[in-house]
Amino acid sequence: MSLSLALEYDHNRWRQLADGVLQTARTGHFIDGEVAGASDGGRFESVNPASGEVIALVAAGTAQDVDRAVAAAQRSFRDGSWSRMAPRDRMAVLYRWADLIDAHAVPLAVLETLDMGKPIADVLSTDLPSVLQTVRFMAECIDKIEGAVTNTEADVLHFVLREPFGVVGAISPWNYPMLMAIWKVAPALAAGNCVVLKPAEQSPLTAVRLAELFAEAGGPPGAFNVIQGLGETVGRALALHADVAKITFTGSTEVGKLMLQYAGQSNMKRVSLECGGKSPQVFMGDLDDIDRAVQAACNGIYANMGEVCNAGSRLLVERSIYADFLDRFEAAGRSAYRPGDPLDPATTLGPLVTREAQQRVLKLIDAGRAEGARLVFGGDTPADLAAGAYVNPTLFADVRNDMRIAREEIFGPVACIIAFDGVQEALRIANDTIYGLAAGVWTRDVDTALRLVKGLEAGVIWVNCFDEGDMTQPFGGYKQSGNARDKCFDSLLSYTQTKSAWIRLRGQ
Ligand code: NAD
Repeated sequence: MSLSLALEYDHNRWRQLADGVLQTARTGHFIDGEVAGASDGGRFESVNPASGEVIALVAAGTAQDVDRAVAAAQRSFRDGSWSRMAPRDRMAVLYRWADLIDAHAVPLAVLETLDMGKPIADVLSTDLPSVLQTVRFMAECIDKIEGAVTNTEADVLHFVLREPFGVVGAISPWNYPMLMAIWKVAPALAAGNCVVLKPAEQSPLTAVRLAELFAEAGGPPGAFNVIQGLGETVGRALALHADVAKITFTGSTEVGKLMLQYAGQSNMKRVSLECGGKSPQVFMGDLDDIDRAVQAACNGIYANMGEVCNAGSRLLVERSIYADFLDRFEAAGRSAYRPGDPLDPATTLGPLVTREAQQRVLKLIDAGRAEGARLVFGGDTPADLAAGAYVNPTLFADVRNDMRIAREEIFGPVACIIAFDGVQEALRIANDTIYGLAAGVWTRDVDTALRLVKGLEAGVIWVNCFDEGDMTQPFGGYKQSGNARDKCFDSLLSYTQTKSAWIRLRGQ
């Protein structure tokens, strides 16, 4: 059953499918081509945040489990079954893998929704299509990786090879569980590395299915392993492991900094980081279509429940249009997102990922009120969905950039509107943050747009749109939002290292 057919299912159909899918869910690790339990038999609960029910008991990995997975990956890398496979053959495996993911779209979507709370409509329209695009793009790129021959003296031949690192450890977050894992695993595998993935413990259920499908597509045992478990045990053991040559991490800035420490304490492994954000959108008074801008602002903060690293959480609005923008945002945003059962295709707002995440977001909303921001709507939870970890879409106006709600990554559906006058003040406020993942710019004036693009300290900037892009777009941050770039061809190259061979030719 492919993705396109699944788009026609209704709520009842998804509900009927859910039990069956859960009964066959993989709850172990995936090591050397096989599903395996934790070495000490430990398990942790996976909870459906829409209902609070425990839906699976998942293997709680140990440092020994990490050792086993890294050893399998190392063996596989050294035997060359994946790393030295001809590029065309490796491409064929990845294309088959994408086709199999597409063929298993229904159970994967159900698992993602039950595990993480994401509306099923979003999994089908955003997450899964992006997963397929990523795998296929990285497949296409495999035989485009090139080395170089440089211009040297006549008696020398110098060439530069690009080689995989060996074992790559990937640590992923829960907000787009499959997609964030695939943004790392697909380029790492495409470049010929072998991988040990540690998915977030809040959303563990799809990762092993992805690895099994890779094996079914022809990926050799040990090339792609998954270890389930907690960050402080499994994630830490993986990032400290002496046989892991590179760690690729997506998650919070706080844990990203730990990755750098782990690398320094162990084998100086390469570290790629995709971390948090507090992205500004700058709405200049001359913008072309205020309703389109307002709609993009709503989507930029309320989509995926605001659990988006590049969420446009700080809306900087020029004072000349401030009142009008605010009125229109209030009219459009209050009911734009519909909370409900995430298995209902009509639901556009699911619960936050856990009860703790809900409580953290509500506390930050309290802090906003206490610091004097004006709560325009939301700030509460839907009364009829108390069993789930829901937070209603929330808007604060008259926010100052020194308030906690403007400085901390809330990771929930909370928008903050901040007034400014002129480009220079917009830049000062926008850049006054430790983060630098993304930014939006809205103006009709080319000169203003380019001044903002050049002045904003962010890795991704959208002009007169927000959160768009395709696989050619490098995605990653400035400052404490990280140092990596996902998605693009450079991402694939970042899973290779250069080797230079300087060859002196014998005299004639
Ligand atoms: P997190 O940092 O809590 O966890 C991320 C991963 O790290 C999880 O797999 C977790 O188990 C693991 N981990 C936690 N503690 C660890 C430790 N001590 N050692 C090793 N591993 C550890 O982040 P999260 O709550 O899962 O995800 C939300 C964060 O991710 C947000 O800050 C968001 O902005 C960020 N994010 C960034 C991007 C990006 O591309 N820049 C994309 C998605 C999410």
